[in-house]
Amino acid sequence: MQAPTIGGVSVPRGQGQVIRLSRGASLSDFAEKIGVNPASLVQVLFHLGEMVTATQSVNDETLQLLGAELNYNVQVVSPEEEDRELLEAFDIEFGEDVGDESDLEPRPPVVTVMGHVDHGKTKLLDAIRHTNVQAHEAGGITQHIGAYQVVATVDGQDRAITFIDTPGHEAFTAMRARGAETTDLVILVVAADDGVKPQTTEALNHAQAAGVPVVVAVNKIDKEGADPARVRAQLTEYGLVAEELGGTTQFVDVSAKTGAGIPELLEAVILTADAELDLRANPNQPAQGVAIEAHLDRGRGPVATVLVQRGTLHVGDSIVCGEAYGRVRAMLDEDGAPVAEAPPSRPVQVLGLTAVPDAGDSFLVVDDDRKARQIAERREARERTAQFAQRRPRVTLEDLESALKSGARRELLLIIKGDVSGSVEALEDSLLKIDVGEDVALRVIGRGVGAITQDDVNLAIASDAVIIGFNVRPAGRAAELAQREGVDIRYYSVIYQAIEEIEAALKGMLKPEFEEVQLGTAEIRQVFRVPRVGNVAGCIVRSGTITRHSKARLIRDGVVVADSLSIESLRRVKDDVTEVREGYECGIGLGYADIKVGDTVETFEMREKPRA
Ligand code: GDP
Repeated sequence: MQAPTIGGVSVPRGQGQVIRLSRGASLSDFAEKIGVNPASLVQVLFHLGEMVTATQSVNDETLQLLGAELNYNVQVVSPEEEDRELLEAFDIEFGEDVGDESDLEPRPPVVTVMGHVDHGKTKLLDAIRHTNVQAHEAGGITQHIGAYQVVATVDGQDRAITFIDTPGHEAFTAMRARGAETTDLVILVVAADDGVKPQTTEALNHAQAAGVPVVVAVNKIDKEGADPARVRAQLTEYGLVAEELGGTTQFVDVSAKTGAGIPELLEAVILTADAELDLRANPNQPAQGVAIEAHLDRGRGPVATVLVQRGTLHVGDSIVCGEAYGRVRAMLDEDGAPVAEAPPSRPVQVLGLTAVPDAGDSFLVVDDDRKARQIAERREARERTAQFAQRRPRVTLEDLESALKSGARRELLLIIKGDVSGSVEALEDSLLKIDVGEDVALRVIGRGVGAITQDDVNLAIASDAVIIGFNVRPAGRAAELAQREGVDIRYYSVIYQAIEEIEAALKGMLKPEFEEVQLGTAEIRQVFRVPRVGNVAGCIVRSGTITRHSKARLIRDGVVVADSLSIESLRRVKDDVTEVREGYECGIGLGYADIKVGDTVETFEMREKPRA
C-alpha cells in the first residue's frame, strides 16, 4: 500500500491517535512518536508554510497544525503538568495540603527583604537575627544558610517569622520565574536619608506583581538628614499609604545600626500577615517545600537549605529535591544546632542528598528511598531531553488575540522602561486610558528609568508580561535572556506609535507584517511535455537559488501572468534535488500549463518584518 503524500512527501497518516508532546518539543520528537523520518515532517511543515529545522523547538500551535494535517490528536504538555503526572504515577500530589480545613494549622509568615542598594537590607537582616527576643542558646556557630527564623512577642504571644536571608529582588524574581512561590510578605527597606530610588520602585513592582503584602521599613533614622515623613509621602504615589495617613500599609521607622524599631517592625509583619493573609498548612503529612539555596560542602557533601511549606520534615525521611534525592541524614538550623523535625515555614539545612539541587527546586518526602531515586532519575532524564527545547511560548502582542479568544487571558501585563521618568509616566498614563471595552484589561506591573535589565526580563517571565522599551535598549544579557525565554520586547521612540500598537493588540488587530523576499529567478529556455505531469520548464537559474516547494510566480515580458504558484518539482538532469543555484540548468514543474520559452520564474518567501 502506498502512503499518501503531502506536498510531494509521503508520510503515513494517523487515525486520530492521541500524541502527547512536551511543550517546546521539536519535529524530531514528533517524528519519533509516530515513527517517521524527521526530515519528512520538516517538509510537510514547509508545505504548510512554516520553515523550521528538525531539532528546533516549535510552539504549541505548530505542533497542533502538524498533528491536524497528519490526522493525529496532538496534546501539548507543560513541564509543570509533566512533573505533576510523574508524581501522580507515584501517587503523590505536590503543592496541596492533604486533608481538609480541620487539618490546617497556622504557620509563620515567610518574609523577603527588598529595597534599593545600600539602603540597609543586609544590615537589617543581620540586626533582626541578633535582636531575636528569644535568643538562641549559646554554643551554635552563626552561619549563613539562606533563611532563618526569629520569634517576636506580639500581644504577649510568641510568634515566629521566617526570613529569606538573600536580600534583593533578583533572588525573589528568579524563584518566581521558576514557579516557586516562597514569599508571603515583603519588607521594603527605604533609607530615610535617601528616599525612594529606582530599585525601591522596582522591588515594589515585583512585590505587587506577586500580589504579596508590603511592610515598609524606613531605615537609617539614626542618620542626620533622615526624613521619614518624606519617604511616606513619596510612597503614596506608588499606592502605599501609611496607616497614620489613612491608608493600610504599615510603615516602621528603624535603624539597622542601633537596633531601634526592630521589635516594632516584627510586630508590623505579624499584624499585616494576620490582617491580610490566611497562613495555614497541614503539619501532619509528608513534608513538601522548596530549596532556597544549596552547595557542595567538602566534608559533608551536598548541603541544601530547604523551606518546609507543608507537612513536617524528619531526620531519616526519604526525600527528592529536583533531580537530587536521598535520606535526611541530619538537619541543622541557622545556628548550626541539630534539629529533629521541621514543621511548616521552618527553614533547615539538610544533609544526605546525592546531588546539589538548584535554588527554587521543589522537595518532597516519599515513602522509601527507591521511590525517591526513581522520581529523581525520571526528572533527570526528562531534563536532559528538554534541554534543547527550553523555550516556553510566552505572550506576544501578536498572539494576544488568540489568547484572549481562548479565554486564557483577559489582561495584558506590561513593563515599561524609558529614558526619563517623564516619558515613562506619560506613556503609562496614555496606555491606561486606552479603552477597548470591559473584556480586556491592561495592567502595568513594572516601570522604571534606564535600560531593560535581566531583572525586568525575569519579571516578565514570572508574570507573562510584555516589555515596552521607550528610547531604551536591553543591557547586558537581558536581550539574550528575553530571546531564550521568548519574552516580547517592543521598542518605541514615539508615544503615539506605542499607543497605537497596544490598542491594536488589545483590539486583536495586530497582525504580524510580512514582506516578500526574492529567493531566485530562472529563465525558461525549453518546454517539455511530460505525460501525466504536464508541462515542465527547462530553465537556467539567473539569480539566487531555486528551492523546491518555494512560492513562485511566472513573469512574461515584465508582467506577472500567474501568481501563487510553487516549485512543485525540481530536477537536475534526472535527479530530484532540493535546490539549484545561479548559473545551473534545471527542470522545474510549476503545475501550470501555460509556460513559454523566455518566461521568467521568480521564487520568493514571505518573511516577518521586524517592527520599527
Ligand atoms: P544593602 O545594599 O541594602 O544590603 O545595604 P547594606 O546593609 O550593605 O548597608 C549599606 C550601608 O549602610 C552600610 O555601610 C551599612 O553599614 C549602612 N547602614 C545600614 N543600615 C544603617 C542604619 O540604620 N544606620 C546607619 N547609620 N547606617 C546604616
